[in-house]
Amino acid sequence: MDELPLRHPLDLYQITRLLSVESPHEIEQVLARARTVKKECIDNKVYIRGLIELSNICRKNCLYCGVRRDNRGVRRYDIPEAEVLETVQHAMEEGYTSLVIQSGERTDQVFIQHIDRLLRKIQALSNHGMGITLSCGEQNPETYRRWADSGAHRYLLRIETTNRDLFRRIHPCDGSHLYDNRVKALQCLKETGYQVGTGVMIGLPGQTVEDLAKDLLFFRDINVDMVGMGPYIEHEMTPLHSEKDRLWSMEKRLEKSLLMIAVLRLVMKDINIAAATALDVLSHEGRTMAFHAGANVLMPNITPAQYREDYLIYKGKPVLQEAHDLISRISAGLPAGTQIDFTRWGDSKNYARRISG
Ligand code: SAH
Ligand code: SF4
Repeated sequence: MDELPLRHPLDLYQITRLLSVESPHEIEQVLARARTVKKECIDNKVYIRGLIELSNICRKNCLYCGVRRDNRGVRRYDIPEAEVLETVQHAMEEGYTSLVIQSGERTDQVFIQHIDRLLRKIQALSNHGMGITLSCGEQNPETYRRWADSGAHRYLLRIETTNRDLFRRIHPCDGSHLYDNRVKALQCLKETGYQVGTGVMIGLPGQTVEDLAKDLLFFRDINVDMVGMGPYIEHEMTPLHSEKDRLWSMEKRLEKSLLMIAVLRLVMKDINIAAATALDVLSHEGRTMAFHAGANVLMPNITPAQYREDYLIYKGKPVLQEAHDLISRISAGLPAGTQIDFTRWGDSKNYARRISG
């Protein structure tokens, strides 16, 4: 790898080559480059967002996801507003200044108003001090606008994969899930003024390293501010489970996920990159390793304990982990000089540059 001088901007050939390295020595070299870029271009911090899994009720039927509409084995929940506010109050007392509210996708008025009211109440409770990211799926432009007006300022919507054929294969073919609509939604979020995050699953059946390289180029082309991407983990109660024999090994999915984070850091130097929870399914140290690959955002789960085992989007998702235990464990394993930062929103520098023109 030393003998591979990188020409910027990185092109498809170079990115594919970086993602293809296999020896532990070469992988470590790519990760080390990413750490250097992170230190030079942003800061040596890990920003914290408390994750609330608000509801597992979903109108969609993604073929990979454990809470898909047709999975009858799921006990559906929607956390009542008072309980969410109690959780937020508790998080504020613990020092959190940033939250992610994630849920299954719903587009009915009851849900839209529910989110709207929650945003207003959280902002009132925190004296407008809370950074709020939403991850509630595809919505129409009015809804995105309304939620932004009520206090959300970041939005996560993964493209899942930029290979259109693969995208078609992992979603129902009833027209409910179209690639072009997903791209339009990301564009609309940007125009509405959100800091926009997207991401992909890594190691989907039939996905190639070149597909992954193209995913990174897509992130650069649409100029996203944040990326959250992690390994695909099969779930027995989903249609895609039938393809489990075609999957990369757990080791390979972990390795490729870390390389994706590292190469993304080389491609988009000052965006926010989250360490996905799914990494911890592949290795106890999965998320810690992400911070050695250039990630800078950690999203500890602060959902009230009684709901957690009903939000199983993939098999083996850690549900018992306490947020403060996770933070201490991650903190102990961070690269030298890196510190956890609760106190600031940690907005993506890319966003600041983007809006200043
Ligand atoms: N309903 C919203 C947010 C919840 S799902 C949405 O779809 O945007 C959040 C993410 O979980 C999805 O974007 C998908 O990338 C990820 N996910 C779902 N099933 C998964 C699986 N089996 N393995 C890994 N990630 C999965
Ligand atoms: Fe619903 Fe999101 Fe799961 Fe798709 S990935 S089924 S939209 S929760």
